[in-house]
Amino acid sequence: MWIVPESAIPGLVDEQSAFDAIEATFAAMSRGDAYNFPVVREALGEGRQYGFKSGLDRVGVLLGVKAGGYFPSNAERGIPNHQSTVYLFDPESGKPTGMVGGNLLTALRTAAASAISIKHLARHDSKVLGMVGAGHQSAFQMRAAVRQRSFEKVVGWNYHPEMLSRLAETAEDLGLPFEAVSVDELGAQADVIITITSSLNAIVKDAQVRPGTHLACMGTDTKGKQEVEAALLARATVFTDEVAQSVSIGEAQHAVATGLLDESAITEIGAVINGAHPGRGHADEITLFDGTGVGLQDLAVASAAVELAIAQGLAQEVAF
Ligand code: NAD
Repeated sequence: MWIVPESAIPGLVDEQSAFDAIEATFAAMSRGDAYNFPVVREALGEGRQYGFKSGLDRVGVLLGVKAGGYFPSNAERGIPNHQSTVYLFDPESGKPTGMVGGNLLTALRTAAASAISIKHLARHDSKVLGMVGAGHQSAFQMRAAVRQRSFEKVVGWNYHPEMLSRLAETAEDLGLPFEAVSVDELGAQADVIITITSSLNAIVKDAQVRPGTHLACMGTDTKGKQEVEAALLARATVFTDEVAQSVSIGEAQHAVATGLLDESAITEIGAVINGAHPGRGHADEITLFDGTGVGLQDLAVASAAVELAIAQGLAQEVAF
């Protein structure tokens, strides 16, 4: 069994390797070669959350689980509040094959998912990227997004304005001008909008989004969270990583619950990757990707990390 500690992940798995691994995973899910097991998520008290995301990819030969959660007191301990570890197993024998630090990988695989949606669904002439959210994930999201289109500018809004410096600094690092704007202005300017917040109420309203916009809604991964108005999902063509998660814990939960959107109208992004669905039909269509985060994403990037770590002599082998 190979161990790849969290400290080995930076510089090991880059944006392109994460993108390739996740694109192949979404394609395998849509072909029926891979599926996710039901998610377990428990409140441990005092704000602590813990859960398990797992799955099987028969073709990618992946079986495993990401165990992780949110521990609000970790900041006082000087370690990240989000803590996760991925465990990989041989699908034939069940023997453990890998134990991989999952914190940075979670950010990379989440950013890869929205970047994949931009590659396959955003208008090719997209010039302005709109960022809603300025937390830990937002910088990874921006970095992955700008690889997909020739963006000329980033506009951003955040509930906590003091956090906007993260977006400004990331844009500067990427050589792009950044402007802090209202949500109205963000909708008026952006060709692509990424939402990555822990909001419980709609931030982006239907009337604020122009025809032709692509949205990647990435923050809503739990029942009760919401980033965009349900009416927007009724107007948009909705895509997701996994329909079951989209309607239960994803952004589509509200539109489906209120009858504005039928589950049958939601398409897995893997169908677009495989060519079974044409994706965007015309320049004025609003496309919306509901990225809920599936266990197979975690297994795919962890497996890539193990392969790269072995090749670079960074993995520790233990008899187990
Ligand atoms: P973070 O704690 O670093 O940042 C939180 C963000 O949400 C900040 O922008 C903050 O200003 C904003 N926010 C907080 N309270 C808000 C409110 N009441 N209204 C509006 N905005 C509010 O978190 P992060 O690590 O950047 O994660 C952001 C979100 O993405 C979380 O909801 C997290 O669960 C989710 N997430 C999703 C996936 C996925 O696969 N889809 C993966 C990782 C994280």
